[in-house]
Amino acid sequence: MFTLNENYLKLPGSYLFTNIARKVAEYQKNHPQADIIRLGIGDVTQPLCPAVIKALHEAVDEMGDAATFRGYAPDLGYEFLRTKMAENDYQKRGCDIKADEVFISDGAKSDSANIQEIFGRDSKIAVCDPVYPVYVDSNVMAGRTGDYDENTQTWSNVIYMPCLAENGFAPQIPDEEHTPELIYLCFPNNPTGEVLKKSQLQEWVDYANKVGAVIIFDAAYESYISDPEIPHSIYECEGARTCAIELRSFSKNAGFTGLRLGATIIPHDLKCHKEIMGKKDVELHSLWSRRHGTKYNGAPYIVQRAGEAVYSKEGEEQIKEQVSTYMKNATFLYNGLKDAGYEVYGGKNSPYVWLRTPDNMTSWEFFDLLLDKANVVGTPGSGFGPSGEHYFRLTAFGSYENSVRAMERIKNL
Ligand code: PLP
Repeated sequence: MFTLNENYLKLPGSYLFTNIARKVAEYQKNHPQADIIRLGIGDVTQPLCPAVIKALHEAVDEMGDAATFRGYAPDLGYEFLRTKMAENDYQKRGCDIKADEVFISDGAKSDSANIQEIFGRDSKIAVCDPVYPVYVDSNVMAGRTGDYDENTQTWSNVIYMPCLAENGFAPQIPDEEHTPELIYLCFPNNPTGEVLKKSQLQEWVDYANKVGAVIIFDAAYESYISDPEIPHSIYECEGARTCAIELRSFSKNAGFTGLRLGATIIPHDLKCHKEIMGKKDVELHSLWSRRHGTKYNGAPYIVQRAGEAVYSKEGEEQIKEQVSTYMKNATFLYNGLKDAGYEVYGGKNSPYVWLRTPDNMTSWEFFDLLLDKANVVGTPGSGFGPSGEHYFRLTAFGSYENSVRAMERIKNL
């Protein structure tokens, strides 16, 4: 008889957004007339920009002609896209990243879940709390997180770094007794919408280099940054090439959530200095290449051409416009909630607005109240970790009209 990967059985409950969808569907069934506004899940709503659509059409035509048809894509991505990313996302910002350090993928979710595979089974992870759930759950599946405590909703072998209003939503460097090997950081942050200044990120890079840890830096929301003091990439920090992996996504900057495209950056200087099986100074780059080569057959050609179009002059202008439309919603929600007396965070360099629930309500109590009395769906902060309790996330990814209507309803609560 077959057995199971028992680590999957350790995972508590179902995925946060599945729970929310179930609750909303139930509510809609019982209240068929309710006009529900969804500001919960972080999915975009604007269509792909014209430059991307044009590139897609052209690539589809190429696939229909034997002379230009493409089969399997290179495992690590087409050169044209790797070069565009290295030049535009990194070299133009003064970051020393070359095209062959860019691994093209189908998005940051799968990469953020899969990257843990190349590290030792006993590696200790540190995560912000609250956190994008994928980082923790993928390590649970790999058997790295120890035992789950229902009461505290924490894993025994995970270092949680609370990010609360009291510490400006910035994770604190762990004490000497809790030294991590893998540190997950995501800024601009999902869910808090808060950011780290370059000097703060530099402290993490210095720390990781000192203790021999790797930072997995999720930059999925970098295009929402407008403040010049906030780094778009961890490689803007000195020394990051020897301690950091960066995750990139085309989902939130260019609306590729349904198209699927992302990248993982692993500099050649990032090496494991411990001797393992007689090998020393092994590059993480070589392990991820091997992993990609064995388990992945490359993002589709037409999608990579669409990604290339994001870096064209028209593409850049068009996606900038989309981001600013979402940021107009973020500003509206942020100011509206402030006016209504809420304690509000994020929303300035991020499409997420993070608020403290009124009257010390739990996150799920506030979720129910908002759904029932305002027909607005948001995301309970506790779904992102214990320190998210008494907080709530609204996204700016809806339409402006819906953001305005939602705000009116929230003000009338
Ligand atoms: N990383 C973070 C922090 C996210 O919030 C999300 C999606 O919401 C992703 C990654 C997923 O990105 P992708 O669509 O590229 O898989």
